[in-house]
Amino acid sequence: MSYSKPVFKDKYSNFINGKFVPPVGGDYFENTSPVDGSVIAKYPRSQKEDVENAVEAANAAKDAWGNTSAAERARLLNKVADIIEANLEEFAVVETCDNGKPIRETLNADIPLAVDHWRYFAACIRAEEGSATELDQHTLSMNIKEPLGVVGQIIPWNFPLLMLSWKLPPALATGNCVVLKPAEQTPSSATLLMEKIADVFPPGVLNVVHGFGPEAGKPLASSSKIDKVAFTGETTTGQLIMQYASKNLNPVTMELGGKSPNVFFNSVMDEDDAFLDKAIEGAVLFAFNQGEVCTCPSRILVQEDIYDAFMERVVARTKAIVQTSPYDINSMVGAQASNDQYEKIQAYFKIGKEEGAKVLTGGEAAKLEGDLANGYYIQPTILEGHNKMRVFQEEIFGPVVCVTKFKDEAEAIEIANDTMYGLGAGVWTRDAHQLYQIPRAIKAGRVWVNCYHAYPAHAPFGGYKKSGFGRENHLMMMNHYRQTKNMLISYDKNKLGFF
Ligand code: NAD
Repeated sequence: MSYSKPVFKDKYSNFINGKFVPPVGGDYFENTSPVDGSVIAKYPRSQKEDVENAVEAANAAKDAWGNTSAAERARLLNKVADIIEANLEEFAVVETCDNGKPIRETLNADIPLAVDHWRYFAACIRAEEGSATELDQHTLSMNIKEPLGVVGQIIPWNFPLLMLSWKLPPALATGNCVVLKPAEQTPSSATLLMEKIADVFPPGVLNVVHGFGPEAGKPLASSSKIDKVAFTGETTTGQLIMQYASKNLNPVTMELGGKSPNVFFNSVMDEDDAFLDKAIEGAVLFAFNQGEVCTCPSRILVQEDIYDAFMERVVARTKAIVQTSPYDINSMVGAQASNDQYEKIQAYFKIGKEEGAKVLTGGEAAKLEGDLANGYYIQPTILEGHNKMRVFQEEIFGPVVCVTKFKDEAEAIEIANDTMYGLGAGVWTRDAHQLYQIPRAIKAGRVWVNCYHAYPAHAPFGGYKKSGFGRENHLMMMNHYRQTKNMLISYDKNKLGFF
């Protein structure tokens, strides 16, 4: 079954103070579909003034929204979830068109998961219990969580609606107003969402401003009229955002890049065991979402005594990946999100080959036919080499994995930890000791054991080292969007007696 390319308007607007408004300066940029290289629509090329208008609207709305009951906020979050779910197919097709990822993923993974995040935080905010402690028989200590006020959120292009749904629900559930800047490469699903939910929140509570990083993202992160910046994107951009926010002493949360190891111990190699098949699939998951995943298992580490037999199967499985039109439900790997990414990945093929990496499969752009010939397709690629190579150390963000061997547990841990990143990792083993001790020794915020690429709303997610700090998802996320007021209440009739 194949879906059709969606129909777009000629141009779209920002969403500020409950209304769709054109950019103040009247400038737009063209957004392209990576599926076939065609222009989809024009989006506002917003500047500082647009951001200031959105921040002002959010500030005007924040007191009333912050005082809304938890039940009412939860009701509205659930309403958003219902609206996305009722239009799931439309969101999935728009996301595929805008980002290039296969419809199989948008329909079955991204959009349903986005829905679940809205519902999860709607439930969390109502399920919370307060904390009051009796300090002595006359004195009560009460911790009250208050919203921060206005939050600036900046997101990347690799999971447009899902990243938005990681960011907005916890901020809104905890009573904050938001100004969100989607990535300029993928503005479509955020725009579609605003069209569908324009009347759900009071004006000013949720604002979306489109545009480029230095022109719209920087004034947002630098604004003295916001109270926090939540960022997901590249490590180098995160460093800039922290500088901007530091001028206002604003707190930040940073979800940044990764170069995640996926470690296979020799106990996975039992020919008669179905688990081997699962492990091989786990190795091939580097091609999931075209490798445009911050936790892409982009380094495979295999124990040396099973290396040849295991990799023979991994290569065969990779070669069997179906790469057709992203609108085709059978397609397993789509187009890279932009021409920049497409070129960057090919540059890394050159770097890898010059460094002496051996291409086990792929290593080139993929040639698709018809309209797709103008799309940005890359063959799922396996490079063999060693961990000091640039292709092992730098984030390629494509369907590319670098594979190397290790001797024993100590060497596996050493290689796994030998990058500047610490976002995700995978460990595959049948050994009970290893399945606890190896994840504990790997410096990463999320370690999948005998699985990979699961992102449930109720499991905390985030980075160690240069992959960031703060956590997304899980109810612990809500504390990144509020501050604690402690009230000390005396019930004692008697004076203190100091004076
Ligand atoms: P990016 O840093 O280039 O851009 C991310 C966002 O920041 C975009 O909206 C962009 O417009 C904005 N931006 C860029 N420069 C800016 C500036 N100077 N000031 C303010 N805003 C600016 O990242 P990307 O290429 O869009 O996304 C890919 C990166 O995101 C990868 O490194 C990936 O690992 C990371 N990522 C991390 C997670 C996570 O949860 N840790 C999740 C998804 C993606």
